[in-house]
Amino acid sequence: MQRLQAFKYELRPDGQQARQMARFAGSCRFVFNKALALQKTNHEAGGKFIGYVAMAKELTAWRNSSETPWLKDAPVHPLQHAIKNLERAYKNFFAKRAGFPRFAKKGQRDSLRYPDAKQIKLDQANARIFLPKLGWLRYRNSRDVLGTVRNATVSLSGSRWFVSIQTEREVEQPTSHSTSAVGIDMGLARFATMSDGSYLEPLWSFKKHEIRLRRYQRAMSRKTKFSNNWKKAKAKVQRLHTRIGNCRRDYLHKATTTISQNHAMVCIEDLQVRNMSKSAAGNADKPGKSVRAKSGLNKAILDQGWFEFRRQLDYKLAWAGGWLIAVPPHNTSRTCPACGHIHADNRKTQAKFACVECGHEDHADVVGAINILARGHRVAACGEDVSRAKPARAKRAASAKQEPTEAIQAGFVHA
Ligand SMILES: [Zn+2]
Repeated sequence: MQRLQAFKYELRPDGQQARQMARFAGSCRFVFNKALALQKTNHEAGGKFIGYVAMAKELTAWRNSSETPWLKDAPVHPLQHAIKNLERAYKNFFAKRAGFPRFAKKGQRDSLRYPDAKQIKLDQANARIFLPKLGWLRYRNSRDVLGTVRNATVSLSGSRWFVSIQTEREVEQPTSHSTSAVGIDMGLARFATMSDGSYLEPLWSFKKHEIRLRRYQRAMSRKTKFSNNWKKAKAKVQRLHTRIGNCRRDYLHKATTTISQNHAMVCIEDLQVRNMSKSAAGNADKPGKSVRAKSGLNKAILDQGWFEFRRQLDYKLAWAGGWLIAVPPHNTSRTCPACGHIHADNRKTQAKFACVECGHEDHADVVGAINILARGHRVAACGEDVSRAKPARAKRAASAKQEPTEAIQAGFVHA
């Protein structure tokens, strides 16, 4: 089976290269924004959506225009890729997977992608990579790149530049070493509760840093904009943001690695996180209720990185020969795992479950996880409708589905 994998390294550019990368990323952002503005005016004038080919022709005109001569200095493929990025943003919007594309701002995911592998030269022995118009760049060689290079993305995080090298390679169809199955209930008080009763502490990395972040931001707002002191204060804010992000990523990676190594089948709720975390403020016709509490919840949800957790579980399980099943979440917190009785009263409090029919008691999140696991077994065995709950990547799920007989059988024993 083909495995796509990205290997990320910190770059060690010289001053000239760092300036070039900043300029090129700026050019990509400029092209993205110009194309978005063109789509908007074109749409307002009643025109049809401008496809990639037509937009790429516009790009050629911009590059040759005397108004933006500096666009010619930037490598052309990354600029074209910026147009592709916009097209994907539109497609996600049309498919209701994302909001309307927004203009890119400086300092937000500054990056450029070289999509053509033929133009990239990787010299691992000397820890350097060749990229068009940048030349040979040194990088911190923290691990070997495996497979053939497909593309490379250069990005800025905090004040440091990174390169992410995506490769492709043939690996044997993995078979999971584990035979167990687990259900996971996602929550706020506990980040994730397993059906075996164990759980992960909430990820409060943002909350923990929130007070300091606010202090730094206030300090920054008191300074004169673009002054040296303002720049220093801004760098402090950015460094803290980077640290928060690193803490969160580290925590999630450790958790998802452990889970995917210990279980062959993992069942989670197919929560519509996007719906839950969408604006609580409402609009003029329909102002939101308890906006404050909900915005706190929204932030907490985003803070917890549920999306990222699920994404990582999905690919790590596929790599380990396991299987992620997302099940519809209805009634998982109200169904008694002992007798099957469904009632809202079964859940006494946020944390306590006590069945009104048979008296079965347990932690409410554990009950949720057990029910999720049971539903996952039904989905796996007899194809209970999961039309609303397809795994994130159908292709991967399909390749993972060839192997899980063992996992499912083991799951039945477990159930
Ligand atoms: Zn019961």
